[in-house]
Amino acid sequence: MTTTSAPATTGDATDGATVGHWIDGAHVPSTSGRTAPVYDPARGVVTKQVALADEREVQAAIASAKAAFPAWSELSLSKRQQIMFSFREILNRDKAELAEIITSEHGKVVSDALGEIARGQEVVELATSIPQLLKGEFSDQVSTGIDVYSIRQPLGVVGIISPFNFPAMVPLWFLPIAIAAGNTVVLKPSEKDPSAAIWLASKFTEAGLPAGVFTVLNGDKVAVDGLLTSPDVESISFVGSTPIAQYVYETGTKHGKRVQALGGAKNHMLVLPDADLDLVADNAINAGFGSAGERCMAISVVVAVEPVADELIAKIAERAATLRIGDGRRGCDMGPLVTEQHRDKVASYIEVAEQDGAVIVVDGRTVRPDGDENGFWLGPTLIDRVPTSSRVYTEEIFGPVLSVVRVESYEEGLALINGGAYGNGTAIFTNDGGAARRFQRDVQVGMIGINVPIPVPVAYYSFGGWKNSLFGDHKAYGADGVSFFTRQKAITSRWLDPSHGGINLGFPSNG
Ligand code: NAD
Repeated sequence: MTTTSAPATTGDATDGATVGHWIDGAHVPSTSGRTAPVYDPARGVVTKQVALADEREVQAAIASAKAAFPAWSELSLSKRQQIMFSFREILNRDKAELAEIITSEHGKVVSDALGEIARGQEVVELATSIPQLLKGEFSDQVSTGIDVYSIRQPLGVVGIISPFNFPAMVPLWFLPIAIAAGNTVVLKPSEKDPSAAIWLASKFTEAGLPAGVFTVLNGDKVAVDGLLTSPDVESISFVGSTPIAQYVYETGTKHGKRVQALGGAKNHMLVLPDADLDLVADNAINAGFGSAGERCMAISVVVAVEPVADELIAKIAERAATLRIGDGRRGCDMGPLVTEQHRDKVASYIEVAEQDGAVIVVDGRTVRPDGDENGFWLGPTLIDRVPTSSRVYTEEIFGPVLSVVRVESYEEGLALINGGAYGNGTAIFTNDGGAARRFQRDVQVGMIGINVPIPVPVAYYSFGGWKNSLFGDHKAYGADGVSFFTRQKAITSRWLDPSHGGINLGFPSNG
């Protein structure tokens, strides 16, 4: 089928439901009168509407979170910890339900949706150790009779703004640590797949989280701008495209907030001549076409150090032909793209590649999906000899389009990667430990895989890129997450002791 066949579907709601907000511990219908359609991408139909908050609803959401903060931040660590344990059990118990929701609005296959839930669950599990994570420092007798120690306190109301591509995992990168550390949260999910956030909020409520601690505010730029400018919001955690990440960072910091804004990516896989090409081809398929390439850690460029390119391309093409593209609920390997508009934009890059003289090895526009003909389909696409001046190389495509660039040496490949505007993830494939070690030291990228194609760090490390992939000083989760969601105090203390020493107008010094 072609890429332009989906019918006009806006307004064709099949079940009439409208996703509202989660405020004060319950689902609240919107009164803004503004909505956006939510699609089932595998069927190409609108299945529900999502509320788009107006200014009044934004303020109501923030006010609820603000009111909940004093009691929540005073609750003991062990009680907050118990709620995290309960939520972890509920999430694990009901994850199949959440995966169905994700697939029905995002389109990714169910096994992949379960994968994103598992990675989110890791952060919940990290947050169950919040008493350990918040431990301060103590120095005894820094001066005669004086001790110094530090404590970490929550910020207050914190905002999270998430993208469409991980409707459960990205909120869970931030939520568990923010909440366990004693903050109250307002989450603004993507308007393309808003139901996972409401599901998470309902399950946190079931786990015993008090009303107002976790609020979901559905909406668009009005809601985002409301969070960015409110004096009652202390911090913003954003994940999305680079232009919006930069806007969020600049606007939020201008309004005095702590901001971490994770942006887009263009991730390269460097293949050295000694690599196992079957392993490389398997990983290029998984990392290039998993979730239809709609992952910020997807590999979008294979940098092949000659003479391996011809053999490697043949192996990738052979595997691409075996993939089953179709409805994510039918056990397929790869689902549709999130919207018709996004599918058409991604497909337009294949035309750009043709115009720029690249070689289309596998053309996803001719895909025959196992699914409804109105779905937003585009098959795996492999493009060889992509000029590095082409928009196909320089821009984030965010779809199942894998480019190959041929280079003559490790140095040439490294220079290419380091010359890019983004620095999210990268991978090297080689059997040479020395080369891999050199790469990990030389490459200007935040997350590096060695024979690992999608090196998303585990929850107790932190996730984040360099350059245009991250604005701000804190990555997501891990130690950076704890640091971001708390403010540290240092306390210098002296209790009366027979040795205390009278009046001294000099600057305090150790003695
Ligand atoms: P997006 O930037 O379009 O939207 C992200 C969020 O910003 C959404 O909640 C959206 O409602 C809001 N938003 C959109 N336009 C806005 C505007 N003009 N003003 C204020 N708010 C606005 O991103 P997306 O399409 O949902 O997600 C895909 C992008 O996210 C890709 O670029 C991908 O690389 C990136 N991403 C990055 C990471 C990472 O960790 N670096 C992770 C996942 C996704």
